[in-house]
Amino acid sequence: MTQLIRTWLLTCAALAALCLGPRTAHAELGVIATTPELASLAAAVGGARVHVQALALPTQDPHWVDARPSLALQLSRAQLLLSVGADLEVGWLPTLLVGSRNGRVQRGSAGFLEAAGLVELLERPTGKLDRSQGDIHPSGNPHFLLDPRRAERVAVGIGKRLAQLDPEGRASYLENTQRFVQALRQARHRWEERLSQARGREVITFHRSLSYLADWLGLQVVDYLEPRPGVPATPRHVAQLIARCKQRPVSALLQESWQPSNTAELFAAQTGVPLVILPGAPDFPGGESYVGYLERVVELLGAALVKGAQ
Ligand SMILES: [Zn+2]
Repeated sequence: MTQLIRTWLLTCAALAALCLGPRTAHAELGVIATTPELASLAAAVGGARVHVQALALPTQDPHWVDARPSLALQLSRAQLLLSVGADLEVGWLPTLLVGSRNGRVQRGSAGFLEAAGLVELLERPTGKLDRSQGDIHPSGNPHFLLDPRRAERVAVGIGKRLAQLDPEGRASYLENTQRFVQALRQARHRWEERLSQARGREVITFHRSLSYLADWLGLQVVDYLEPRPGVPATPRHVAQLIARCKQRPVSALLQESWQPSNTAELFAAQTGVPLVILPGAPDFPGGESYVGYLERVVELLGAALVKGAQ
């Protein structure tokens, strides 16, 4: 009988350890980021005091994420929600916020931080916007996390918000932020050097998702496969682009891995312009850092835009 009780107690202890896991050791702050980029920044700044999850997968177009109940459940436990903003998640995040029934992370509360408020946005529409034309960037371009200078500002903002929510960790967040900023700046200078010969190169991009990358590196985006952000390319528009590039070739057609590549492949085959498919986001579930992600982006750009120039 004693043996039975002992076995039972051991089983309970093992189950408790499984359920609680090592996370309870620090009473981690639960952080949910809408995209893997934001999640990687939060993980760098939060360190061991936070547990970070991303709602969108690295393979998903962040404009169109399925608002599944499992994501609402994830959000229901969060203490901080990091959103990109500028309408990037407008099609799915509001549904998840309602479904989460979590008052701590609703818009306007301390547990909700919108990164777009921390940076200067490009392509802000001027004048009256006609939404009937399907433009999915009505508040300016939301793809700013491909610019390490803006990512730095967002990381600093996340660190401040974490310190506000978890004052005991203030020194830790500050130290992590400083370490991250220093590493990012060092990497950025190296990347700028690597791609210095690419400055001024003309490129076409699939979606207006590489405007900040182009702004940072001095690339000239001369056109897009999509006639408007979020509006699929029409045969007429693609034919015009092909004709244009036969007359005046561009250095590359750039797109991200979460966009369909059939139109881009057709364009590349017709024009001879190299198609460069960039990773759309860090492999955050696989543990990739923000710096590691941009490293991959820079390497692909370097191979396409610099190697050929030498
Ligand atoms: Zn977009």
